[in-house]
Amino acid sequence: MGVPKTILIVEDERAIVEILKFNLQKEGYTTLEALDGETGLEMGRNPALDLILLDVMLPQRNGFDVCRQLRQEGFSVPIVMLTAREEEDDKVFGLEAGADDYITKPFSMRELMARVKANMRRGVLQSGSQAPSQPPIQAGQLHIDLDSYMVTKDGIPVELTQKEFDLLRFFLAAPGKVFTREELMEKVWNYDYFGDMRTVDVTIRRLREKVEDDPGKPCHIMTKRGVGYYFSGT
Ligand code: CA
Repeated sequence: MGVPKTILIVEDERAIVEILKFNLQKEGYTTLEALDGETGLEMGRNPALDLILLDVMLPQRNGFDVCRQLRQEGFSVPIVMLTAREEEDDKVFGLEAGADDYITKPFSMRELMARVKANMRRGVLQSGSQAPSQPPIQAGQLHIDLDSYMVTKDGIPVELTQKEFDLLRFFLAAPGKVFTREELMEKVWNYDYFGDMRTVDVTIRRLREKVEDDPGKPCHIMTKRGVGYYFSGT
């Protein structure tokens, strides 16, 4: 089974923390908890984390701020925001702050577990994975090593979040093939129900900002107007 995965819960409502802890531990995860944003940020810097569940409304520092700060410091740990259903914009704010996904409150445990599994960090030395090693890919100034999760641009490492990397890897498996947002939502985020397509758009935008010379005029992560997105390797 390997080392248990560690999840940090950043949430100020005790009752929610307890129910999350109980259910995650039942599934074999190790949990850590922070009850405010400042503590969440400090604990979020722990390199041993495999995922962070991050509430938005928190004392001291809100969840967007914590997420943005961790990303600015180069932490690529998967972050799933816990947003309030009535706050529609929270979804997009969270993604723009660098979150990988979100789940709206109130959520069912089944929903939560599905989101946790779909976003969990997949380490280089994942136990039980027997995937044959893949040759690195060169696309323009981009160098992508699928085995070590390393992406460099002009020789400089690019820090991608788990979902940004997953998305890039998905595109690379079929350069030139156009994928609809629905397909990307299903294949990259593992949504088996209708997810919010803005998740795809915001992640595409973030990926472009990191890998393109001019994100406004991309030459790798391309838009096929009215259809979807595709990768161009030239
Ligand atoms: Ca809260």
